[in-house]
Amino acid sequence: MTLKLDINPIKAWLPHIDNPLLISGPCSLETEKQALDTARLLAKDKRVFVYRGGVWKPRTRPGSFEGVGSIGLEWLKKVREETGLPVGTEVANAQHTEEALKAGLDVLWIGARSTASPFVVQEIADVLKGSDAVVMIKNPVNPDVQLWMGAVERVHQVGIKNIVAIHRGFTPFSDTKYRNYPNWKTVIELRRNIPNLPIICDPSHIAGKREYLYEISQKAFDMGMEGLMVESHIDPSCALSDAGQQLTPADLGKMLDKLVIRYETANNPEFETRLDMLRSRIDAIDSELLEMLSSRVEIVKEIGKYKKENNVTALQINRWSQLMENRINVGNSLNLDETFVKILFQLIHEDSVRMQTEIMDSED
Ligand code: PEP
Ligand code: MN
Repeated sequence: MTLKLDINPIKAWLPHIDNPLLISGPCSLETEKQALDTARLLAKDKRVFVYRGGVWKPRTRPGSFEGVGSIGLEWLKKVREETGLPVGTEVANAQHTEEALKAGLDVLWIGARSTASPFVVQEIADVLKGSDAVVMIKNPVNPDVQLWMGAVERVHQVGIKNIVAIHRGFTPFSDTKYRNYPNWKTVIELRRNIPNLPIICDPSHIAGKREYLYEISQKAFDMGMEGLMVESHIDPSCALSDAGQQLTPADLGKMLDKLVIRYETANNPEFETRLDMLRSRIDAIDSELLEMLSSRVEIVKEIGKYKKENNVTALQINRWSQLMENRINVGNSLNLDETFVKILFQLIHEDSVRMQTEIMDSED
């Protein structure tokens, strides 16, 4: 389902941008000095385009630092005055949104917990109506692309055109390497459904730990994301929230130096010619694959009829185990990924059994 929404490219509200959209700043604003000291260092790096600072913090358990509240908006205004960087914060209800708009913040974002609630998103959208705010929408905590799209639609419906989606990962069910596991399939689905919606990545909340930020950020660029939101703090180890995942502005710069930025096209005819040639080889192989699958289907049907005539079941578990073992071994010897081969043959076999039972259940 492709939605045609009137959404602006990032350049429409940030005309001087010539690189990926990099947003950085503390998870939480803690003091005016922390906010400004962090901003001054970030502003020296011309790759940073927007300053972020959480003012109202959604904490999973009560009792942790819940943000400095409205006073933080004044600090954000000072950051903008002093550094010239556009500034943004998270809004999670109507009152936050009213205050953030009144303070004239450049960017508002809806957090992952809020995106998961259509009531909250609608409440925020109703306040946004009539403004020309830039609104960023994080993915919901659960990997539900419809819910993510629904939030984009609610914000778009009230007339907001400056919208950006943020992939910040999804809540895992058990302990995993990352705090929130990335799910690129969901991101690709969002891109397919709303092709003109810019999508950036928040590696900080995916990673949970500084050491993973680089690999996730590189993957985001490899996947064609248009930017990053990375948490940074003048003294990360003393941060009042998310201490383990924030970078000093200097370390952020070092990470950016290492990242390879990728673009949708290379604007290079030689590259395009070679890519076209390789793609036509892939197209030819895919059509051979489909023809072979079709020949396989014919044989499967013949087996189905033969089994029916002889009152034999559609599924023979021994044959299935042997087949799978053999295909995995052959796959291994051909350097194919084992999980891929398994899933592929599960699908093929499931469909063979389906066809055979259909033949058995048919009248003739
Ligand atoms: C944040 O950006 O600080 C934050 C709380 O993010 P999320 O909504 O992704 O958890
Ligand atoms: Mn955070």
